[in-house]
Amino acid sequence: MQQKLLVLVSTPAYSRLYGPLVYLSDQMLPPGTLVRVPLGSRETLGLVWPGDITANGVEEPTNLRPVLETLDNIGQLPGHWMELMAFAAHYYQRSVGEFALGSLPPQLRDLSQVQLERKLNKRAKLSRSTEEAAPAKQQLPVPTPEQSQVLARMAVEQGPFVLHGNTGSGKTEVYLRRAAEVLAHNAQAQVLMLVPEINLTPQLEERVRQRFSHLGEDAIVSMHSGMTPAQRLNSWLSAHTGQARLVLGTRLAVLASIPHLKLIVVDEEHDPSYKQQEGARYSARDLAVYRGQLQHAQVILGSATPSLESWHHSRAPVASEAAPRYVRLSMPSRIGSGQLPVLRRVDMGKQARKTLVSAPLLDAMRERIARREQVLVLLNRRGYAPVLHCHACGWKSECPHCSAYRVFHKSDRSLRCHHCSLTQAVPRACPSCGNQDIGALGHGTEKIEEHLAELLQDMQRPDGMPLRIARIDADTTRGKGELVRQLAEVHDGDVDVLVGTQMVAKGHDFRRVTLVAALNPDGALFSADFRAPERLFALLLQAAGRAGRDAALSRDQACEMWVQTFHPAHPLFESLKQHDFAGFAEQQLTERQQAGLPPFSFQALLRAEARTQEAAQAFLNAAKLNGESWLAEQAVSVSVYPAVPMSLQRVANVERSQMLVESHSRRALQTFLSHWQNDLHGLRVLHKSVIRWAIDVDPLVI
Ligand code: ADP
Ligand code: ZN
Ligand code: ZN
Repeated sequence: MQQKLLVLVSTPAYSRLYGPLVYLSDQMLPPGTLVRVPLGSRETLGLVWPGDITANGVEEPTNLRPVLETLDNIGQLPGHWMELMAFAAHYYQRSVGEFALGSLPPQLRDLSQVQLERKLNKRAKLSRSTEEAAPAKQQLPVPTPEQSQVLARMAVEQGPFVLHGNTGSGKTEVYLRRAAEVLAHNAQAQVLMLVPEINLTPQLEERVRQRFSHLGEDAIVSMHSGMTPAQRLNSWLSAHTGQARLVLGTRLAVLASIPHLKLIVVDEEHDPSYKQQEGARYSARDLAVYRGQLQHAQVILGSATPSLESWHHSRAPVASEAAPRYVRLSMPSRIGSGQLPVLRRVDMGKQARKTLVSAPLLDAMRERIARREQVLVLLNRRGYAPVLHCHACGWKSECPHCSAYRVFHKSDRSLRCHHCSLTQAVPRACPSCGNQDIGALGHGTEKIEEHLAELLQDMQRPDGMPLRIARIDADTTRGKGELVRQLAEVHDGDVDVLVGTQMVAKGHDFRRVTLVAALNPDGALFSADFRAPERLFALLLQAAGRAGRDAALSRDQACEMWVQTFHPAHPLFESLKQHDFAGFAEQQLTERQQAGLPPFSFQALLRAEARTQEAAQAFLNAAKLNGESWLAEQAVSVSVYPAVPMSLQRVANVERSQMLVESHSRRALQTFLSHWQNDLHGLRVLHKSVIRWAIDVDPLVI
C-alpha cells in the first residue's frame, strides 16, 4: 500500500513553490527522514516534513511521483531542529525548503544511500579507537573573583546571559569552564561555540582542543565555509550523531543538527558578520537565542561592546515592565597588569587643511618606532554611505524631516534620505554659510600607506634596516592563507607600522603594539547609517584592547590610542576615554529611543534589482501601494517608506533599489511581511523587468 508523504525540497523563495510537496512511498517514513525525490526533470534531496496532507495550502498533483531512495541510515533530523528551521524561514521570509535544505552540508545533497553508508562505516571504525579518558591533569588558571562570580550565576540561572567583559578580562576562560561543567554534568551534552570569523576558529580550536583533549579527537569539530565539502559533511555528521561534544563554528553552525545541545556561546556577539548578507538573511546570534529556548540550552552572548539590542534587553527594566529578557554579567577588570591605553585627541579643526596625519601624532609614532614598538593605524571600512560636510562651518547633510543624514550619491550628485527618500541635487555651496568647499565626510584614507611611507622615509631601524609598513585589508588578504601569513609577520615584530581596516582589530594579539591611531573616524559619527557610531565605538575599544597586552612594554610609558577628529568633545570620545561602554550605550539608546530607531522599533527592507532604477522603483512603489491598502484595511500599524536607490546603487550593470518598512511592534511587522510576500510574488509577474527581489528582516544597514 502506497503512503502519501509531505516532502520539503529546496526552492528559492521567489519561485513561489514554498510549501512541502506530496510524494508516494512504500512505507510510512517519520518526519525528519532524508529522501531523494524527483523534481521536474532532476533528482533532489528532500526532507520528510510533519503536517497534514489534507490541510490547506498543500497542492496535490494528480500524478504523484514516488520517493526514489531513503537515507535512513543517518537517522532523522530532530523535531526541534525542524521547528528551528520553520521559525527561521517564517521570520526571515524565506521558504522552509530553502532554509532547511540549504543549511545541510552541500555534499549530503549528492551522496547516494550506499555512499553515505560507506562514509558512516568508516567514521564508526575511526571513533571506536578514541575512548573518553579522565580529564588530564592540566595546570588550569585559578578563576579570578569576577570569573567565579559569573560562573556561579551561570550554574544556577538559565540566562540568556550577556557577558560584558573587556578584551582580556577572561571571557574565553569562562566559556571553557562553563562548557566543562555542562559536559561533565551530562555524558551526552553538546556545546556550540560561535565566533564571528573563519580566521578566529583555529585560535579557539587550539585552545579548546588543549582543554578538552581527554574527550578524544573526534569530540571537537569545526564548522565554517572555508572547509572542503567532505570536511563539512564529516563535522555535520559528528554533530548530528552526537559524537561531537563541542562544535566550533561561524554563523552557519547555528543551523546544524545538534540533538543534545546544552550550551551555546556566541563570542563577540555584536559582530555584524553574524548576520548573513545574502540569500536567507538570518542573524545567527538571534537564532542562537531562539534555539536555546527550543532545546533548553543555556545561551551566553559575550562581548566587550555588546550590540545595543542585546544591551537593551539586559537593562534593568523601567517600573512598568517585566524582568529584563537577558541577564547581564560584567567582568570589568583586565587579567594581568596590561594597562588600557590612554586616549589622545587631535583637533583637526586646528590643523592645516587636508592634513592626513597631524604633526603631534606623527611625532608620537616616531617615538614608538624608534623604541622598536609597533603602531597600528586604523582605516575606516570602505563603502559605507557618505554624508556631505562643510569644512568651514561644520554643516552636514541632515534630512529636514528625519533624524537621519542624507546620503551623498555620487553617480547623479544627489542627496537622498534613506528613511523618507527626500531627494535634492547636491548644493553648489554650503546652505548654511555659503562656503564652496563641501565634500564627503570620512574619505580619503585609501592612500594612507604610501603617504605614511613618505612621512617616515627619513627614519630607519636601529640596525639600519628600512622601516616596514604593511597594510592588511580585504584586498591584500584575498589569497588563501594570506591573512595568517601577514599576521605572523606582524607578530614576529617584522612590521613597524600596520595599516588596516576593522579586520585587524579582531581577536589578534599584537603584543608589541603600543600605539593605535584612528585617522579619520568622523564619517562614522555623522553617518546616514544610525549604527555607525555603535560600530565605531566597538572598533576603537577593540583596537585599544590590542594595545598594551605586553605589560613589560607598557610599564615605562602608557599605551596610547590616538583619534584625529573635528569633534574632539563628541560624547563618543568622552566615553571612549573612560573606557565606559555602559555610558556610551545609555547615550546611544536614549538617542535611538527619541528617534524611534531599533531596538525601539523593528525594521525590514524590501530590495529590488532591475536593469534600470525606474523599473526597480516601480516594483517597490507598487508593492508599497498594495501594502498600504492592506494595512489600512487591517488597521495594522506599519510604515512603508518610498523607494530609494541603494547607496551602492549600481553593481555589474544592475540597478538596485530599496524600501524601508518600520513598526513599533515586531508582531505587526511580521504579520504584514507574511501577507506582503504573497502580494510580491503576484506583483513580480507584472513587473517583468525586475531581476530579483528580497526582504531583509532586521537589516544591519539601511
Ligand atoms: P577574553 O576572552 O576576555 O579576551 P581570555 O579568556 O582570552 O580573555 O583571557 C585573557 C588572557 O588571560 C589569556 O591569556 C588567558 O589565558 C588568561 N587568563 C584568563 N583567565 C585567567 C585566570 N583566572 N588566571 C590567569 N590567567 C587567566
Ligand atoms: Zn558651511
Ligand atoms: Zn528623511
